[in-house]
Amino acid sequence: MTLSTKTSAALHLEREAVNGACPECGALALRRYPVHSEGGWFDVVKCQACLHSVRRERGARLGPALRLLSDTL
Ligand SMILES: [Zn+2]
Repeated sequence: MTLSTKTSAALHLEREAVNGACPECGALALRRYPVHSEGGWFDVVKCQACLHSVRRERGARLGPALRLLSDTL
């Protein structure tokens, strides 16, 4: 078993910038990214300023875990 010396970049979940203002605080700080919670993975759009969840959709069942796992093998 070899240890990877990759940068931690591979471990960061991608946070895609979303156009538009937060309906709660008006900040232009919306990001979309997958989160894992009860029931599996969800794609959420969340304001990074006040953490208001603008949108929450059920995502792929395995989510990014599969990709992250393969990145670290
Ligand atoms: Zn906000």
